[in-house]
Amino acid sequence: MAERVIPLVDQRLAPLRAALPATPVAATGQLADRLQRPLRDLRISVTDRCNFRCSYCMPKEVFHKDYPYLPHADLLTFEEITRLARQFVAHGVRKIRLTGGEPLLRKNIEVLIEQLAQLRTVDGEPVELALTTNGSLLARKARALRDAGLRRVTVSLDGLDDAVFRRMNDVDFPVAEVLAGIDAAQAAGLAPVKVNMVVKRGTNEQEILPMARHFHGTGTVLRFIEYMDVGATNGWRMDEVLPSAEVVQRIDAVYPLRALEASAPGETAERWAYADGAGEIGVISSVTQAFCGTCNRARLSTEGRLYLCLFASNGHDLRTLLRGGASDEELASAIGHIWQGRGDRYSELRSQLPPDTGTGARRVEMSYIGG
Ligand code: SAM
Ligand code: SF4
Ligand code: SF4
Repeated sequence: MAERVIPLVDQRLAPLRAALPATPVAATGQLADRLQRPLRDLRISVTDRCNFRCSYCMPKEVFHKDYPYLPHADLLTFEEITRLARQFVAHGVRKIRLTGGEPLLRKNIEVLIEQLAQLRTVDGEPVELALTTNGSLLARKARALRDAGLRRVTVSLDGLDDAVFRRMNDVDFPVAEVLAGIDAAQAAGLAPVKVNMVVKRGTNEQEILPMARHFHGTGTVLRFIEYMDVGATNGWRMDEVLPSAEVVQRIDAVYPLRALEASAPGETAERWAYADGAGEIGVISSVTQAFCGTCNRARLSTEGRLYLCLFASNGHDLRTLLRGGASDEELASAIGHIWQGRGDRYSELRSQLPPDTGTGARRVEMSYIGG
């Protein structure tokens, strides 16, 4: 087996300057990138910190106690986030997902949710507000999140076996507390809760069936994510990816499945229904089946950089414009211009790219721009 290489470098490269285009780009809701993909989905990272150290995301060797997290003044304030989000919505965004780091670590996150819940899409509908969390603080916060206007929550959970789970989060966090968080979310009306499990061959593949059994018939939608080569610190190797097709096969052998249609264009998960009517599962095959052709997602980092792809090395700095006194129209114009220039399709190109040897431009970390 090849040796695992974990480069110890700071990923946050100098940003790209977000400039005002010579010809303004008005927000019409019709924005398209170079591959004719619209902008529909905005993921906002509200913190680069986390209380877990999942080895595939924030390995302890890199994210130790002296890691240079962003100082507070560098973070976008809630007002700044909402102001930027409003411009994205004017360009056609319908769904906003808060993420991180661990978004529930951001103080008073409910206040941000209240602000974002006021936004209306170009069709006059409320924006669909969701949040992805490791679930550790959910039992305490679910009700307040719902009251603030959150609609849906996705909880990451990589196994039911307590020892496996404690090892994967690498801070000895017990599985029972995450399960209590899922129950609290459901009770608070944040349903249907989705549960995301990252599958690593040789680490938690034995948890696939117990997880399927546990959530079968509960209304919670379990989704299996292929372990991805995001960032540059997790020592990713292809032989640790368990293809989604194999996950489906393993579950189908116990609970027969039938394929479902995608629920929305640009949906990342392929959906499968249990033939016995006990709900559905999803698989997200970012490695074995690229879905860049319909990718309509933008990502806004904690410090206000716009990333056009999960695998990008650089983000476009919107904070300087924002803090430099740009008007709403100017912010919208800058965002529109950046999106019009987007040609990113990393997953489609993955197999043709040279292996990442740690010498080229480093890809941004998942914990910094969120999933
Ligand atoms: N801390 C929150 C959580 O864990 O849900 C939100 C941020 S986390 C970066 C978002 C999602 O990215 C989680 O579902 C996590 O499992 C997933 N993720 C992180 N690193 C990954 C990797 N290398 N491959 C696949 N998914 C990954
Ligand atoms: Fe934290 Fe989420 Fe990354 Fe795990 S996946 S280390 S919970 S940000
Ligand atoms: Fe979208 Fe980039 Fe993922 Fe392709 S690789 S689906 S462009 S985020």
